Amino acid sequence: MAASIPHFSLLRNYAATTARAFVTVKVKPSYTISSTTLLHLPSRSRRLQFYASATNNEEAAARAAAANADSGAPTIFDKIIAKEIPSSIVYEDEKVLAFRDIDPQAPVHVLVIPKFRDGLTQLGKAEARHGEILGQLLYAAKIVAEKEGILDGFRVVINNGSDACQSVYHLHLHVLGGRQMKWPPG
Ligand code: AMP
Repeated sequence: MAASIPHFSLLRNYAATTARAFVTVKVKPSYTISSTTLLHLPSRSRRLQFYASATNNEEAAARAAAANADSGAPTIFDKIIAKEIPSSIVYEDEKVLAFRDIDPQAPVHVLVIPKFRDGLTQLGKAEARHGEILGQLLYAAKIVAEKEGILDGFRVVINNGSDACQSVYHLHLHVLGGRQMKWPPG
């Protein structure tokens, strides 16, 4: 069958220089790309292929993380809270810890977490009793934005579950800023 031109639907939401992939590539089911084909693709297409496979890796990692989400096992964030591993702390109080993301997606990228997880592996597990800590986390996000000098424009993100590429099952808010954000986020 003669190869039809693949239909790529591209959604690049962040700068190409970021370590994470933010491109969605949809290929018509009838069209298969062999590795030989890829070798002959122009460099832009090869870049897209790289982004696509990075996205797949991220999605696979998120699915693997989700499999243990409800095990109650400690996460990397417990070690950060216990100061067993280093982190760059931006803000801390009795209930909340905010530290820089190890893989920043913007000049400012800070994670805001509850020190006591209390069942909040993800936002989807929230119950009415969590209302107070959820408010404290959101207020802490504002304090972080103020401290980082991005009050004029910042984004707060919560990835919930594998479909949203959540990789750590301890509720956390991403506070992102310091560059122009795009919309939709992807
Ligand atoms: P999510 O994918 O929404 O679950 O976000 C988890 C975030 O935790 C990612 O952005 C990671 O880069 C970040 N992360 C993982 N390990 C560490 C660490 N040791 N220190 C700081 N950030 C981390």
